[in-house]
Amino acid sequence: MNIVVLVKQVPDTAAERTLSGTDHTLDREGADLVLDEINERAAEEALTLKETAGAEVTVVSMGPDSALDAIRTVLAMGADRGIHVRDDRLRGADVVTTAKVLAAAVRTVGDVGLVLAGNATTDGQASAVPAAVADLLGLPQLTQVRELRVTAGRVRAERETEHGEATLDAPLPALVSVTEKINEPRYPSFKGIMAARKKPVETVGLDDLFPDADAVGFLVTRTRVVEAVPRPARTAGVRVTDDGSADRQVADYLIARKLL
Ligand SMILES: Cc1cc2nc3c(=O)[nH]c(=O)nc-3n(C[C@H](O)[C@H](O)[C@H](O)COP(=O)(O)OP(=O)(O)OC[C@H]3O[C@@H](n4cnc5c(N)ncnc54)[C@H](O)[C@@H]3O)c2cc1C
Repeated sequence: MNIVVLVKQVPDTAAERTLSGTDHTLDREGADLVLDEINERAAEEALTLKETAGAEVTVVSMGPDSALDAIRTVLAMGADRGIHVRDDRLRGADVVTTAKVLAAAVRTVGDVGLVLAGNATTDGQASAVPAAVADLLGLPQLTQVRELRVTAGRVRAERETEHGEATLDAPLPALVSVTEKINEPRYPSFKGIMAARKKPVETVGLDDLFPDADAVGFLVTRTRVVEAVPRPARTAGVRVTDDGSADRQVADYLIARKLL
């Protein structure tokens, strides 16, 4: 079975993230870029299936040159090959365009039994690309998955949201988006990192994925960020010293802020 895992390189959530002054897209040049942590789990799930079901794993990422590092990380974890979709015209691409491009890249793999993705990314947080890719590929999709089993041509999954849990079932081929709770990703071994350097990574652009030039005419983005205001830094807060009136002080504090 061929498994494709969709991964994105994102600014490190631990580092400060800034939006560029011109088009308010995330300033990736100045940021520490890492493999998205939810995508690490999607990759781990693909590799576990590779070990148990004998699948071949292809990692796909759309992004600038730096995104190759994210692909190499998944190859070092144990994936077999990579597809890097790199095209300057994709800068600032919106969800729909990202999904169209990723669906086209998945189609180049052929005979895909399972597409794995994260339920969101830590930067755009749209939680929309997997659904759009599944629709474009005509695949059933199982989302927000925290446990996954593939048996006899079917995929069964435990889905968890704040509203409760559900058991999902669908025939393969299918697309599954996983949450950060699904597993603990492995760390690439030194041997894995060395082997990753020799593993094939195909770099493709829009003209490769959409040979019919007209198909590339689609708008790269339909939405644009017109204004972005960073959340104000958290203030220290009010310190209450209990001189016997702490309850009064807390009540006054809550009343003043219409919380009581
Ligand atoms: C602050 C901000 C706000 C934005 N607002 C909007 C908006 O309102 N509307 C809009 O259309 N776009 C918006 N975008 C752009 C959007 O983030 C990009 O289109 C992005 O590529 C896809 O969205 P996401 O990261 O939120 O994906 P999600 O839908 O959250 O991603 C889910 C999963 O899809 C896969 N995936 C996503 N992107 C890639 C990729 N590049 N390569 C490989 N796999 C991938 C990963 O497995 C990921 O875990 C915004 C971006 C930013 C940074």
